Amino acid sequence: MSEAVFGVFGASGCGRGIMPLARQQLAAAGSAGAQLVFVDDAPQAEAINGHRILRYDEFLAIPAEQRWLAVAVANSRVRERIAGRMAADGIQPWSVVSNQGVIMDDVMLGEGALLSPFTCLTSNIRIGRYFHGNLYSYVEHDCVIGDFVTFAPGVQCNGNVWIGDHAYIGAGAVIRQGLPGKPLRIGAGAVIGMGAIVTRDVPAGATVVGNPARPMLKRSLDGC
Ligand code: UDP
Repeated sequence: MSEAVFGVFGASGCGRGIMPLARQQLAAAGSAGAQLVFVDDAPQAEAINGHRILRYDEFLAIPAEQRWLAVAVANSRVRERIAGRMAADGIQPWSVVSNQGVIMDDVMLGEGALLSPFTCLTSNIRIGRYFHGNLYSYVEHDCVIGDFVTFAPGVQCNGNVWIGDHAYIGAGAVIRQGLPGKPLRIGAGAVIGMGAIVTRDVPAGATVVGNPARPMLKRSLDGC
């Protein structure tokens, strides 16, 4: 029986971007020989990029003392569901953090985080569970970020910004800096469109786009 087996949950775009980092991380920890597979509920092939794709029940059936899974699915609600399945089955949440990123002082990063290359978390930051920080995104000082938050590539999140659970920040969005004691707030479940420039608070569940970012609904009514 192996001591531990490792997997990347999701064998699509997100998972294929995380697998090489996972491999690197195991090698750096002296575990290059450990089993590392994709896990997917709807595998499209037997293997991809040199790694087998197993269904979840097949992963559970591998004889091992410990199982670790990095959840590489961009949809945060799906991530949460998978995290629930993992907890019920005694699978450990595996954080995969690129060695080509920067993490400064006093950063609390919750379990199951994925940090792609060239991400930067500066100092005095709190980030919840299952965060995705995609390529070239940054989180500046004093930000507080909830659970299951997703940053697409190139997000610029400046200092003193608070972001609620399940918010999705689109590629290249820029979030203006808040103030100490008066953070800029992005509510739970909000969606920030690609390239948006966020200059003020965004309510929970709202979708905002453009420069300066405005609610989608208001924009379409304005256009009538
Ligand atoms: N998936 C899964 N179980 C789920 C939901 C999704 O195994 O409950 C897999 C799905 O089969 C697909 C991947 O997760 O292979 C999600 O890929 P998608 O292309 O939707 O987006 P990505 O998150 O890779 O950007």
